[in-house]
Amino acid sequence: MSSGSSVANTPAQQVDALRTQINEHNHRYYVLDAPLVSDAEYDRLMAELMAIEQAHPDLITPESPTQRVGAQPLAAFNSVRHAVPMRSLGNAFDPDDVQAFNKRVFDTLRDAGLAKAEDAVEYVAELKFDGLAVSLRYEGGRLVQAATRGDGQTGEDITSNIRTLRSVPLKLKGDYPEVLEVRGEVLMNRRDFEKLNQAQQRRGEKIFVNPRNAAAGSLRQLDPRITATRPLRFFAYGWGEIRIVHHGQTEMFRQEAGQAGMPRKTHAQMLDWLEALGLPVNGARKLVHGAEGLLAFYTETGAGRAALPFDIDGVVYKVNSLEAQDVLGYVARAPRFAVAHKFPAQEETTRLMGIEVQVGRTGAITPVARLQPVFVGGVTVTNATLHNEDEIRRKDVRVGDTVVVRRAGDVIPEVVGPVLDLRPADTSLFVMPEHCPVCGSAIERAEDEAISRCTGGLFCAAQRKQSLSHAAGRKALDIEGLGEKLVDQLVDSGRVKSLADLFTLTVIELAAYERMGRKSAENLVAALERARTPALGRLLYALGIRHVGETTARDLARHFGSVDAVMAADEASLLQVNEVGPVVAASILRFFAEPHNRDVIAALAAAGVHADAEAAPSGTDLRLAGKTLVLTGTMPNWTRDEATRHILAAGGKVSGSVSRKTAYVVAGEEAGSKLAKAAELGVPVLDEDGLKGLLGVS
Ligand code: NAD
Repeated sequence: MSSGSSVANTPAQQVDALRTQINEHNHRYYVLDAPLVSDAEYDRLMAELMAIEQAHPDLITPESPTQRVGAQPLAAFNSVRHAVPMRSLGNAFDPDDVQAFNKRVFDTLRDAGLAKAEDAVEYVAELKFDGLAVSLRYEGGRLVQAATRGDGQTGEDITSNIRTLRSVPLKLKGDYPEVLEVRGEVLMNRRDFEKLNQAQQRRGEKIFVNPRNAAAGSLRQLDPRITATRPLRFFAYGWGEIRIVHHGQTEMFRQEAGQAGMPRKTHAQMLDWLEALGLPVNGARKLVHGAEGLLAFYTETGAGRAALPFDIDGVVYKVNSLEAQDVLGYVARAPRFAVAHKFPAQEETTRLMGIEVQVGRTGAITPVARLQPVFVGGVTVTNATLHNEDEIRRKDVRVGDTVVVRRAGDVIPEVVGPVLDLRPADTSLFVMPEHCPVCGSAIERAEDEAISRCTGGLFCAAQRKQSLSHAAGRKALDIEGLGEKLVDQLVDSGRVKSLADLFTLTVIELAAYERMGRKSAENLVAALERARTPALGRLLYALGIRHVGETTARDLARHFGSVDAVMAADEASLLQVNEVGPVVAASILRFFAEPHNRDVIAALAAAGVHADAEAAPSGTDLRLAGKTLVLTGTMPNWTRDEATRHILAAGGKVSGSVSRKTAYVVAGEEAGSKLAKAAELGVPVLDEDGLKGLLGVS
């Protein structure tokens, strides 16, 4: 049982305590737009209350939150009485709940002669938009009123606000009915939500905890001019009152009185009809059959959830036939013909116990939240990134706060923000340490950067470990069997100080490390052996030069042909490489100017690590593609090797003898017979500057 009740209490007392808590949460969530607990926590309290009420039906009262929807509307708005009540939905949390729902539906429909087989009941499966429910009333095709759900009977008049939403038509198209009440959800795209929060932060205004909260706060504004600035969208998924004029007679349909007389026979057709009237209906809806069909839609939608631009908190299943819907009817707060199948919660609240800093491969210091363990997004989360100092300030999270933690899909968990109303008096602010917790070097933050960095470089064990792990990675040297734990041990024992040291490890040595048997030691040595001849691009990537990703590393490899050539390159020649701009070039120059980096490269060569040059891409517009050059004499700056590498990188060939096919002879001082031969055959002759001009290198 959750914190909502204690074992010693009687059921009546437990029910009382739960109702008080839930009513308070409802008020904060629906009226104040300032929830204190996560939806998952709220759902647990509600489930607990329902379970007790089910076991003790005599305790159920009409006022119980299990029997009612939402909360009383805010007095500041005019209130609107809904012609047809706005209900909620029952919940399903797992496949068993869905099976049970389908069985209940089938049993009722079979008795009414409307269904033959349990796996043949037809449903429309839809997304469950995580926004807030609204009802839009059209009379004579014009939008005349819009209201929030409120307590289901009476909502808030938000007509002026709804009119500012571009996705809501002010006038319906086509053959619209006399009266149409459309039910749907107002929500905000995640990206718009983030932008809104950034703007709110700049202006020192309220930060919203999630897109739903932002949508609710934006719509329930007394000043519609504010709503107009907020990027809200709307999807229709249902209806309330509908009146149609037939030959001068008004026919009125109210969901209550019966769905069967509606202008269309099925829910799916009704949605198509709403769409034809110009209302936005989300396309991700599907006709499915039986529990199996429902669960398949759930799985499919769950897999695509992260790719949607907005949040959904589940899917909704609705019996398709309107006649069948009438037979199934309603319970107090929800229809029996529909159910919401919720996804596992992506947000939870927990306590922020502390903020520690982690040192990354390039020295970047990342503040990490240490959390009271919490189950969210399908895993137990104990740490969550806080990105950087500014982010902590922006979110105003403090040690001791109750915080909202979010883990969506496979994204790393993050702290969304604090629940300010639960902030204790003794919270403490995060202060960026002045010294690296691992190596003690100064931590610095460049003026134009958000990231603070440890200045220890490879002196810092944390940076060394991270760079070794990076180098061992699949896209780099791909050293299988060199896990994080082993890297820790190798660095901590002082045995491995640089990438080159890895290549001197022996089986006997390795077998002595914790959790390393002889077999794994042998495998690792074999993996190291294989890694001794990497493609040049991989080796360059493995070096972990800042701003040099996998692709840039490969481009550098193709352009220069060897580590030595990259090391020797000046800014101008680096800028010749695809996608290399001044920042990347400066970073490469800085890396190779560092003596210990040069030492590592020398040590790698000494340890027998030799990169394979990567072939230049064929058929490209390289400057010397297909041309053969001959070098002779001594050039003032470049060695023969350097010149050769440049020519190869530009797609050219270097030959030892001059022929008619020679494109150019590059002649330095003391050029001999080759120069004479060139003159004889009429082959153009260049000096070093001429060659550089040809290569586009200054
Ligand atoms: P609900 O959100 O679980 O389901 C009903 C609602 O779903 C409808 O009113 C409608 O707005 C929405 N919906 C979205 N897509 C739909 C679709 N395709 N078809 C039909 N309806 C669709 O129920 P509820 O009564 O609105 O709210 C209860 C939920 O709200 C809780 O489960 C909890 O997640 C949250 N809540 C949280 C707190 C809190 O303190 N954190 C408090 C109250 C409620």
